[in-house]
Amino acid sequence: MREEIEKAIKGFVKTSPSNRLKGSDEQYFAEPMVGYADIHDPLFAEYKNIIGDFHLTPAEFLEAEYGGACPESGTVISWILPVAIGVRRSNRKGKKVPSLEWSHMRFFGELFNEALRKYVVALLSSRGYRTLAPALTAQWKRIVSPEVGHASTWSERHAAYAAGLGTFSLSDALITRKGIAHRIGSVITELVLEPTARPYQGPYDYCLKYNSGTCGACIERCPAGAITEKGHDKEACSRFMNQVISPKVNEAYGVTISGCGLCQTKVPCESKIPAIKQLIAHSS
Ligand code: SF4
Ligand code: SF4
Repeated sequence: MREEIEKAIKGFVKTSPSNRLKGSDEQYFAEPMVGYADIHDPLFAEYKNIIGDFHLTPAEFLEAEYGGACPESGTVISWILPVAIGVRRSNRKGKKVPSLEWSHMRFFGELFNEALRKYVVALLSSRGYRTLAPALTAQWKRIVSPEVGHASTWSERHAAYAAGLGTFSLSDALITRKGIAHRIGSVITELVLEPTARPYQGPYDYCLKYNSGTCGACIERCPAGAITEKGHDKEACSRFMNQVISPKVNEAYGVTISGCGLCQTKVPCESKIPAIKQLIAHSS
């Protein structure tokens, strides 16, 4: 069944007209990666300590949505939608403001991601498996507080980490086999599928800053000064997006966005897990 699901997700990404830049045949997203985690993986309970007790487990989503006790077993299906090369290339040129293509990918591409969530929910529900997309339920909420800053009741990045798809970065994103420039989605289902093995030891394994004390290219790329050697200042990023970038992008391209992605393009981890020799090539 894993193969069937992957084929369906890849087919949707390949053929959907909404995965196309406006007035063009070019795609927002290239072929996705899909990973699986057990709904009772202890990581999901641990996230309450790491992220905050407002972050819900898969079991809590299932119980709230369907009532009664959570199924004994089930799966979190997570996918990575790697940003297509044309969109990434356009954003590499940006120094202060994201490109039109990147901005439209963030806005219209996220609508596409929402359609993909609904598609996977419908597919599994039609086979008789209760399935939900956390981001589309009433339980999904944005949390803004002085203690945690900007967060939500379900982190797509943390679900993808649990599903073996990548590790975190200095810039607070997820570095996957296909890089850091992507969007993420997930569903929770009572269908039991074999979990994906996590091919890493720790949460920052793929970032050069953490694994070798080098790089820091994303620090240089951020026009807000929101990334430093200490990590990503979510509040500074968010403030800059709201006050500077979003009004400019809205005026120029007609959309609002919450991430300029300059820290995800023209960096060694843009489209792969970076290696030290690649860092040398990147800076020469
Ligand atoms: S640009 Fe370098 S330091 Fe920044 S996230 Fe990528 S690998 Fe890590
Ligand atoms: S999204 Fe833009 S403002 Fe936010 S950290 Fe990345 S480069 Fe900086």
